[in-house]
Amino acid sequence: MPSRTSRQRPVLWVATRNRGKSREFQSMLGKGWKVRDLHALPKMREIRETGRTFLQNAKIKALAVSSFMPGRLILADDSGLVVPALGGKPGVRSARFSGLQATDESNRRKLLQSMARLAPGRRRAYFQATLVLVKSGRVLGVKTGRVWGHITQSEHGGGGFGYDPIFQPRGYSKTFGLLSERIKNRISHRAVAVKGVRKLLSRLSPSMRA
Ligand code: IMP
Repeated sequence: MPSRTSRQRPVLWVATRNRGKSREFQSMLGKGWKVRDLHALPKMREIRETGRTFLQNAKIKALAVSSFMPGRLILADDSGLVVPALGGKPGVRSARFSGLQATDESNRRKLLQSMARLAPGRRRAYFQATLVLVKSGRVLGVKTGRVWGHITQSEHGGGGFGYDPIFQPRGYSKTFGLLSERIKNRISHRAVAVKGVRKLLSRLSPSMRA
């Protein structure tokens, strides 16, 4: 499996099947990197996210993919939405908040229902992304980003993915579902963490990038 494309861009494998995430990574990393995700590895087994923190889960994903593809640069992201007034929920269970068959829509519905009786001042929330960069089973770096905002009373917009239509970042009058991809990719939790990852990548020796 070649690690470079015909145009010699180094490949960064992202340990996710979430196309929304890999699209964002590609856009934030720019043309210097070719982002590929687990859709290109149909034989890779399902990874069980058994950790209790974003960091534990990101490491589990990064190391699982790295053992499947030693010698490749792997970036794993574990992310989610944290609502302090709900004791931190949905947290690491953001993707499966409404059960095993959860969809983005059912998760949003469950969250809005869970928050229906909360006073307006208790709707504060943040997204967190923890990124782990690994090669051949060795952790090269960990970067975390957060973006604070609040959960709206109802859905606004169809852009992005996950909880975007009900999350309004602080300082903006629209949800991530309505804001442009360009703005989200500048201020999001993932954007903050990717900034750190870009630094890590830029410091890698040519042989480590290959
Ligand atoms: P993971 O794939 O286990 O990291 O789960 C992440 C889950 O958190 C996603 O399925 C979404 O529900 C939520 N999430 C993470 N980042 C975002 C985002 O940028 N927008 C909306 N929802 C997000």
